Amino acid sequence: MRRYLITGASRGIGRAIAEKLAGEDTVLLLHGRDTVALAQTRKAVEPRCARVILLAHDLAKHSGVSDLIAEVGNEPIDLLVNNAGVAVVKPFTEITTIEWEQTVGVNITAPFLLTQRFAPRLPPGSSIVNILSVAAKSGFANWSAYCMSKFALEGFSQSIREELRDRKIRVINIYPAATDTEIWDSIQGKWPRQKMISPKDIASAVAYALSRPADVALENITLSSLAGNL
Ligand code: NAP
Repeated sequence: MRRYLITGASRGIGRAIAEKLAGEDTVLLLHGRDTVALAQTRKAVEPRCARVILLAHDLAKHSGVSDLIAEVGNEPIDLLVNNAGVAVVKPFTEITTIEWEQTVGVNITAPFLLTQRFAPRLPPGSSIVNILSVAAKSGFANWSAYCMSKFALEGFSQSIREELRDRKIRVINIYPAATDTEIWDSIQGKWPRQKMISPKDIASAVAYALSRPADVALENITLSSLAGNL
């Protein structure tokens, strides 16, 4: 039985990854905050996997991350998907300290703590998937907090990839351009949602990278929309 932990699986890209990776020999540990949305993900994947465990914790707080880790327990996992993320989009002069710290907490500190906890016990041939963004490589006006967090996660990911290489653990970084999820609902402005990538296409890229032979690392995947990125 393989145990997969996916953060932010209550909606969007995380849910699409859960749906894609569900399999008869798979226990899915699905994290989110919204228990109603998490239950909907469970409903979608449950018929196709061995077991589903729901983990509802706020990753903006260290205590939330610790509680998640405690709930997962000592049984090792075979895959960690660091997907949960927040986007604060506004001129940098208007970003509050709380918004900055929440961005750091969810987008940087939580993946750091989860990776630190689970990577040492991942078996050889297993993987860590980090959902980054094209905003991990370029700055965008009004996206300074978000870009800061994704640049930071990029540096962390690249470094731990080298630390884990000898143990045959693959660190797979995914860089989606704008993807049609609810993250855009709370971002001010008119966004061409119909031009955006589907979360299912991100999930397919993750599944493809994971399906490579264990000694092959498909390390970085950038997905953009041919209909035009933002
Ligand atoms: P989404 O639909 O808004 O989903 C975000 C997920 O993160 C939800 O499951 C949410 O849980 C969870 N989350 C947010 N804040 C949290 C917190 N404080 N504690 C615990 N969980 C929290 O967004 P998405 O587009 O799928 O984003 C998923 C990842 O893809 C993020 O890392 C994002 O940066 C990245 N990404 C997205 C795009 C895009 O255009 N959509 C592009 C590039 C990269 P609840 O809803 O249950 O609270």
